[in-house]
Amino acid sequence: MTTARILDFIKNRRPEGPCLVVDLDVVKGNYHAFRHAMPDSAIYYAVKANPAPEILSLLASLGSSFDCASVAEIQMALDAGATPDRISFGNTIKKERDIARAHALGVSLFAVDAHEEVEKIARAAPGARVFCRVLTSGEGAEWPLSRKFGCVPQMAVDVLVYAHQLGLESYGVSFHVGSQMTQVDAWDSALADAKRVFGSLAKQGIHLKMVNMGGGFPTRYLKDIPSAEAYGKAITAALRKHFGNSIPLTIIEPGRGMVGNAGVIKAEVVLISRKSDNDDARWVFLDIGKFGGLAETMDEAIRYPIRTVHDGGEMEPCVIAGPTCDSADVLYEKNMYPLPLSLTIGDEVLIEGTGAYTTTYSAVAFNGFEPLKAYVI
Ligand SMILES: *Cc1c(COP(=O)(O)O)cnc(C)c1O
Repeated sequence: MTTARILDFIKNRRPEGPCLVVDLDVVKGNYHAFRHAMPDSAIYYAVKANPAPEILSLLASLGSSFDCASVAEIQMALDAGATPDRISFGNTIKKERDIARAHALGVSLFAVDAHEEVEKIARAAPGARVFCRVLTSGEGAEWPLSRKFGCVPQMAVDVLVYAHQLGLESYGVSFHVGSQMTQVDAWDSALADAKRVFGSLAKQGIHLKMVNMGGGFPTRYLKDIPSAEAYGKAITAALRKHFGNSIPLTIIEPGRGMVGNAGVIKAEVVLISRKSDNDDARWVFLDIGKFGGLAETMDEAIRYPIRTVHDGGEMEPCVIAGPTCDSADVLYEKNMYPLPLSLTIGDEVLIEGTGAYTTTYSAVAFNGFEPLKAYVI
């Protein structure tokens, strides 16, 4: 969403080079939409989506909690004003000394998906609460999360029993349906699995309290997406269906859905060329590419809306590429991107929906290009 505030900022400040501009009003609106759509769930913002201090402070002041993947992210959330009881160490892959550091900072909620990780937490954060992540299919997600995180539900039962035996509080179950999940009913089968884990543990006298329903809430790129309201309705219905009238505490961890539409990248056309005299395809090279922050164009997974000053004129499918000397730095080629015929070298373009997963993916100085600058307004 290119808001009037973002346009004014770019027009008046004329920032040099590619940069991301984030409108905090949009983030605030997104927070309220989640709050309203899922009033009974605690919101843990996934810090990795965009850890700009202004965003973290805003969300902390609105009452958000935080899903952190490292001690550095935990420190950022604390610096933004979050108290340790509002922080979850949600990465299932942690060094034992980082668990100890988080514990020393007061964090007492940890993700696990294996017996070995439970042992680390029992040693480094005795008595802490743990939740076990279960695998989901990832079907329907435009940025699926594969099998890297989570274990099968039957193993989750064993892991949580083990945690209980080692003196930890077996607190709940988590899952992530896959990022940019555009199907509102995707939570249903994962909640069915969560309920089965709850049931198996209850038979052994262990009463779980929480389901962490992860992120996955989408940002609008080129296609319309369901509203936060629609997700809230579908998820509430699935909770009722599987848990009846004993619905546990729930957490959601929006990352993309909280900040994606709040940011716009201003970029510039560096070169427009063809590969031969009779080449059909124009190649449009921008001053930002995969290594400058647009890593989610990998496999052309995320297709960002691109605005130019020539919109409305005649369009032609183009290959779009970044400025670095790495041949992987092509954004859209298999599925070419329509851009105006009158687009020329030096034109500014606005890449919308880039508030999430851009600044943190940008390389420090590959080929001497500076990391993506961000202005949060
Ligand atoms: C990345 C991540 C999120 C955020 O996912 P989105 O799809 O951006 O909402 C939430 N929870 C965990 C554990 C994550 O790793």
